[in-house]
Amino acid sequence: MRYPFADRVKMFKSSAVRELLSIIQQGDVISFAGGLPFEDYFPIGEVEKAYQKVFASGKSSLQYGLTEGYLPLRSWLSDSMKTKGIESKADNILLTTGSQQAIDLFTRVMISPGDVILTENPTYLAAIQVFQSFEAQIVPVDGDKDGMDPEDLEQKMKKLRPKFVYVVPTFSNPEGKVWSNERREHLLKLAYKYNVLIFEDDPYGEIQFKQDQTYTPLAAMDEGRTHVMYTSTFSKTVVPALRTGWVTGPYQVIRMMAQAKQCADLHSSSLDQQALYYLVEDFDLKGHIEMLRVEYYQRMTIMQDYLKSIPTSSISWVEPQGGMFLWVTLDEQVDTTQLLMEAVKNGVAFVPGAPFYVGNPQLNTLRLNFTHSTPEKIKLGMDRLALVLSKLQSGTESPIIV
Ligand code: PMP
Repeated sequence: MRYPFADRVKMFKSSAVRELLSIIQQGDVISFAGGLPFEDYFPIGEVEKAYQKVFASGKSSLQYGLTEGYLPLRSWLSDSMKTKGIESKADNILLTTGSQQAIDLFTRVMISPGDVILTENPTYLAAIQVFQSFEAQIVPVDGDKDGMDPEDLEQKMKKLRPKFVYVVPTFSNPEGKVWSNERREHLLKLAYKYNVLIFEDDPYGEIQFKQDQTYTPLAAMDEGRTHVMYTSTFSKTVVPALRTGWVTGPYQVIRMMAQAKQCADLHSSSLDQQALYYLVEDFDLKGHIEMLRVEYYQRMTIMQDYLKSIPTSSISWVEPQGGMFLWVTLDEQVDTTQLLMEAVKNGVAFVPGAPFYVGNPQLNTLRLNFTHSTPEKIKLGMDRLALVLSKLQSGTESPIIV
């Protein structure tokens, strides 16, 4: 049978990273590919206790809930976001199935086929997938280590009148980069000038290694709360399996997204939301995040020290100030998709940079995750990677030259 799928599905692409992960999970390969947190840091006992509390609270905890999500958790979020300078009432918060669903719902209510979305380049792969599935025209904006290039951004805003600008300004995926406060202010200024919405995706903002700098979320700078949608998640700070994220922004947009959510799933699991509420009430989440910052910083440093020790000038990266990723650029002639085959043969894996790009990919880039492996595994994996890279340097491996 030839199934009569909608035209839209032609735009669906399965995630290159997910496909890659399934190959890599075989054998003795040390994987720096997935963007996964470290499992030993999951507060499993606390999560279990939180669910026990939900069940002890009676049968009504198993009933249908509100589309917007469990109110006590939204109120907690409203308070907690104040510490980041984001003023948002519980009514303006929609709980979602991870921040991934927030990206999907927002795109669903904003984009008709052909509408323009401006993005960084490279940018978060699964956001590209969402934008493509709604047949958006994704237009990359030039950038450097501090954020989007101001001139290119203004030119594209003026000429293309995008529906929105999608950014991950704090410890991005894949680049691990953080926007300067000047670039943030500039983006917001242009958003007001050209009346364009910003979608700020902030899953990693809490994982800031050193507290010597303050990176203000765009949502906190948007004083009238008119131009920035902000999403974040419990996936990186608590556990991803709870699939709980949230989105906040102008009330009209949140209302529209709630209607779209009704179509998609009525509401996300209220059982999980209630458990999360008990968890954040009882658990020292602040202390937990502090521990994650210290441990992940240590792992990033080990990985970075290995990179520094590789005897070649044609390898560069910007030291991440937080998040989960190190973004590496190799010699221009290297194609990291092919290099991956060689790396896997040597027992180590990464994600080639190409799928994170809109338009022409920079083939000599790769993403390394430093949070999922123990320091020992990082050392072993980086030994293997260093070997592959140094062979490259000495010219004993040839298939990776394009
Ligand atoms: N945005 C970015 C930039 C991400 O890296 C991720 C997870 N990898 C998400 C959104 C989605 O996270 P979740 O759905 O688990 O909240």
